[in-house]
Amino acid sequence: MDIVQLQSAEQLSKATERAKASKLFVQPTGLFRQYRVTNREHRKQYVVDFFLRNDKRFGHCTCKGGIAGFACKHLSAAAGYHVMRAAAKLNVV
Ligand SMILES: [Zn+2]
Repeated sequence: MDIVQLQSAEQLSKATERAKASKLFVQPTGLFRQYRVTNREHRKQYVVDFFLRNDKRFGHCTCKGGIAGFACKHLSAAAGYHVMRAAAKLNVV
């Protein structure tokens, strides 16, 4: 399956640091739990979705790594953003 289960907070924070260093820009698409991640270096865009299955949180990204099932940096960047919005109670879970 082309899904990646979000794992530890530590894994996530390391990935978030990598995402900051790699000039990724995260925007909500307007769809529930969906984000567009733009790499400002080469202008490529990827779409990241989060969803729940059996009470576990999953994420999916449209990049090569994401499709292959890896926790890619786009997924991590979007997850960091998603968690921030959830903490601010902006209508996300
Ligand atoms: Zn990706």
